[in-house]
Amino acid sequence: MLKLTKQMKADIRKLREDDLIVCDVCGSDKLSEKIWVGSNSYISISGETYYRYEGEVDDGQYWCEDCNDMTHPIHISEYKGDEDAKQKS
Ligand SMILES: [Zn+2]
Repeated sequence: MLKLTKQMKADIRKLREDDLIVCDVCGSDKLSEKIWVGSNSYISISGETYYRYEGEVDDGQYWCEDCNDMTHPIHISEYKGDEDAKQKS
């Protein structure tokens, strides 16, 4: 059995951070998107309901909780790249 090391935990956290999509305006990761879910494929755990993901909506729409508006999501590396570019210029 593998022993979970501090380094592994840090790597897993980094992977999650590296895989975020964020708001292209403010960089927030508090995004919601319209998707298809299985109407009868869900479980409830501690008051939260988890649906099985079935697929994307064709005209995918995203909502940013921080902007309180519709947004376009970008990958976090793209957002950070933009920020770096702004700071250099
Ligand atoms: Zn935003």
